[in-house]
Amino acid sequence: LSLSKSVLVTSLGRGGLAPLYASTVSKETYGVALVGLGSYTLNHLAPALEQTTNCRLTALVSGTAEKRSLYGELYGIPQSHLYDYDNFDEIAQNPDVDVVYVVLPNSMHAEYSIRAAKAGKHVITEKPMGISVQECRDMIDACERNKVTLNVGYRSHYDPGHRIIKQIAREHPKGAYKYVQADHGFIIGDPTQWRLKKALAGGGALYDLGVYCIQAARYATGKNPVAVSAWETKTDLVKFAEVDETVSYYLSFDDGAIANCTTSFNFKADRLHVSYANENSTAEIRSAFNYSGQQTFVNGRLIRTPRVSQQALQLDGICQTIRQGSESPISGAQGLIDLQIIEAIEASIADGGKRVPIRYG
Ligand code: NDP
Repeated sequence: LSLSKSVLVTSLGRGGLAPLYASTVSKETYGVALVGLGSYTLNHLAPALEQTTNCRLTALVSGTAEKRSLYGELYGIPQSHLYDYDNFDEIAQNPDVDVVYVVLPNSMHAEYSIRAAKAGKHVITEKPMGISVQECRDMIDACERNKVTLNVGYRSHYDPGHRIIKQIAREHPKGAYKYVQADHGFIIGDPTQWRLKKALAGGGALYDLGVYCIQAARYATGKNPVAVSAWETKTDLVKFAEVDETVSYYLSFDDGAIANCTTSFNFKADRLHVSYANENSTAEIRSAFNYSGQQTFVNGRLIRTPRVSQQALQLDGICQTIRQGSESPISGAQGLIDLQIIEAIEASIADGGKRVPIRYG
């Protein structure tokens, strides 16, 4: 396994990274409605939809009248395509909306995804997919019943550095990887925000940031873990009265691979490291889970990767899979698995770090 050679030749090729998707010949573009005009929508998704080629912004959903009028005007969205949470279901009658993207607090993902599916629209929901395994199952059922697709906003899949990690896992035989370390944390500010309220967030850092580490552990190994041991550390009992502050979890895989992950709302951490068995080989991404600024190293050597908008690639990529009827790498099935792992992590924490088998299916 010669990682540098493999990655440079097969992933980067001569002209840099191969395109994620074949160029789109069809002129068809999908209309996207963004639900919830908060920070992620306004700073990242709405601007990304100005760069996409497979989709464009056609509707906005907000509970705040001032935002509807301000951002409706800014993005040229007619009054007839501006919705609030009460009349949201009328979106079913809007032929300009093909995809509904739910960007609300975590506990609202399931309700709005299911309402969007019943309106006959393809669904993208932000991460975590829901706040329980049962919610994820209900969302998948609703989308299947209404024959629409369901995706989770796992933007890292569209980052060039993460694509290299995924490619190494795909190209090399089982057991080529040995150890994954994935850490993600930031110091959370405003103590009154919804991310610190269990009813709205489901949990703390584990729900908000843990999904990135779990996803990375899964695509770095190309497998799902079979068991987990986990521990929680809490230093601020007031701020983190309702949700976890720092959680460390040790995922075991059936071939002996392990992933050591830590997720925190009380310190900065942003790194993905993979060590490959029998090869003295490593891959690492610094600023791994950031929106940009990733630095990817293979065997210690910096690999030049292009600057991209992860959000624009994600939106175009999802619409391409819808158009082709192909499987999305960030489908609802993937989000469900992550919640199954999160629930096993919570069970292990509750049992003092005992090894808990992870049940799928
Ligand atoms: P914000 O708090 O900035 O925005 C959430 C928006 O949801 C609000 O502005 C509001 O919009 C609407 N809302 C409706 N009901 C409530 C409520 N009870 N409390 C608070 N807001 C409410 O959150 P973010 O934009 O940061 O996060 C939204 C979702 O996106 C989360 O699930 C988060 O995990 C995910 N996210 C994903 C990221 C990624 O990189 N993939 C990055 C950041 C967030 P309005 O006034 O228009 O109704």
